[in-house]
Amino acid sequence: MKNKILNRLKLISGPAALFMCLSLFSLKLEASTKKDTIVNSFKLKTVIIDPGHGAKAEGSPPGHYSRGADGSFSSERNVTLALGLKLQKAIEKDINGVKAVLTRSTADDVSWERRAQIANENKGQLFISLHCNSLADRVVRERVGTKRGKAVYKSVRVPDRSGKGVLMLIYGLHRSREEENAIKNNQVEEDSEMNGAALDPDDPVVIILTNEYKRKFRKQSVNIANFINDELVQNDGRRTEGLREQGLYVLCHAAMPSVLVETGYINNPEEEEYLNSEEGQNDIVNSIVRAIKSYKSQIEGVTTN
Ligand SMILES: [Zn+2]
Repeated sequence: MKNKILNRLKLISGPAALFMCLSLFSLKLEASTKKDTIVNSFKLKTVIIDPGHGAKAEGSPPGHYSRGADGSFSSERNVTLALGLKLQKAIEKDINGVKAVLTRSTADDVSWERRAQIANENKGQLFISLHCNSLADRVVRERVGTKRGKAVYKSVRVPDRSGKGVLMLIYGLHRSREEENAIKNNQVEEDSEMNGAALDPDDPVVIILTNEYKRKFRKQSVNIANFINDELVQNDGRRTEGLREQGLYVLCHAAMPSVLVETGYINNPEEEEYLNSEEGQNDIVNSIVRAIKSYKSQIEGVTTN
């Protein structure tokens, strides 16, 4: 019994923790004289939906903006907006008592700073950022002819369309020194989501924010990421690259459990079709809705003994 209470408490974080702690124990005393039922009074009321990227409008306030990746006939920013609008509707229709707030509802981009602000101002309790993945071009040496009996090569960029599947990013400082150095020396391509969005892992402010975030929200972020990942794999038959930690501004500054969902590779022709299709978008939206329902019941769980 005690362990169950402690486990329940671990799920609850932030300023509400002390209050929850007191109310849980007073409930327990009362309950033990009746049916020994523990009621967790946390309710998931507000989910923030964050459609990644957008087109930067003229006169936008200062901040970080990013247009996102492009496929052969569509753009990440349009797919994420379509998914976000559908997801908002589906949440409000299918999950009782839960409001969904969008950080962006038009084609115009919203800065990362403003997105985090919208999430916090609306008292979001869960932050779901929607993106599409894309692989960077590969640079290969190609033989272009011969000169004085010797082969002549030049470097050419070749699109890499081999990426496939979904990926869940949760906030963390994942880069090792080797990775940092490899990026500096251009030995590896930076992840498309990382371009300019990465935080400096050596910055003391970043370290403090990271520790604070991990202490409060990491466990729930992993939980929601797992629920979404499992739904996409088990119901929609998607391939997955699993869960990965990444130092991302918008996830770090939204003071709530957060996950960034890479819904598929927009530069893979097959996945681009799927991401733009009615069927594909409905699959993704319905999977996320089911995942939120599972997360909601887990976090609001009523334990009966
Ligand atoms: Zn993106």
